[in-house]
Amino acid sequence: MTTSISPLIAGNWKMNGLRGALDEISTLAGLLTTGESPRALVVICPPATILSEVCQLGATSGILAGGQDCHSQAAGAHTGDISASMLADAGAQYVIVGHSERRADHGETDALVRAKAEQAIGAGLKPIICVGETEAQRDSGQAESVVAEQLTGSVPDAAGVHEVIIAYEPIWAIGTGRTPTIDDITRMHASIRQQLVSRFPETGMSIRILYGGSLKPQNAREILSVDNVNGGLVGGASLLAKDFYTIISAV
Ligand code: PEP
Repeated sequence: MTTSISPLIAGNWKMNGLRGALDEISTLAGLLTTGESPRALVVICPPATILSEVCQLGATSGILAGGQDCHSQAAGAHTGDISASMLADAGAQYVIVGHSERRADHGETDALVRAKAEQAIGAGLKPIICVGETEAQRDSGQAESVVAEQLTGSVPDAAGVHEVIIAYEPIWAIGTGRTPTIDDITRMHASIRQQLVSRFPETGMSIRILYGGSLKPQNAREILSVDNVNGGLVGGASLLAKDFYTIISAV
């Protein structure tokens, strides 16, 4: 992990979590306040239906909250969608944009992801912009070029002056229990860093790059200590407070 950047561990609950799951937030809050103080910022991105409760429950223990998506426009006739300012109004400080599940399920393009990130910044949120290659793209040696293209298209120019977070999530590692080798993670994160520094010479060194994809209590310590890995985006293992806390403690 690059030490000058304070690490961040974000949990993506996806479409999981009824009100009963708020017990996990209380448990996590208890672990964070009674155990050793965490060396990472802790963010939970729950379903929007319980976002404001997560904000309230997490406040005293430093748990921050984020949305899982926002619309690319500020307001209007978009039934069922949620705007960045609605998330901010509910207490969120972060929002995931361009997750591979949204890119796949909803046909989200880099241009749309960039517009969402711009909306997020405009509403005072920090966008967590996801990029990552498919298994076929990795097997054919295209992983770095695919991710570079996604970064170019998805990261707004405003990232030079506003806080954004990049999450590298190889699609084939999400929810599968498989992860890239440490060498592959090292190479990819170095390549992302290089691209950020070349586009944002002033701030590129300080943009957080998270790793996501089957990050678990068992592999967290090794993956989170890789150079240019400034934290993690955690799906399945963020649903249980104990597992998530173990990952946070691995920082
Ligand atoms: C994710 O979907 O962002 C993710 C990283 O999922 P998992 O940890 O379950 O692989």
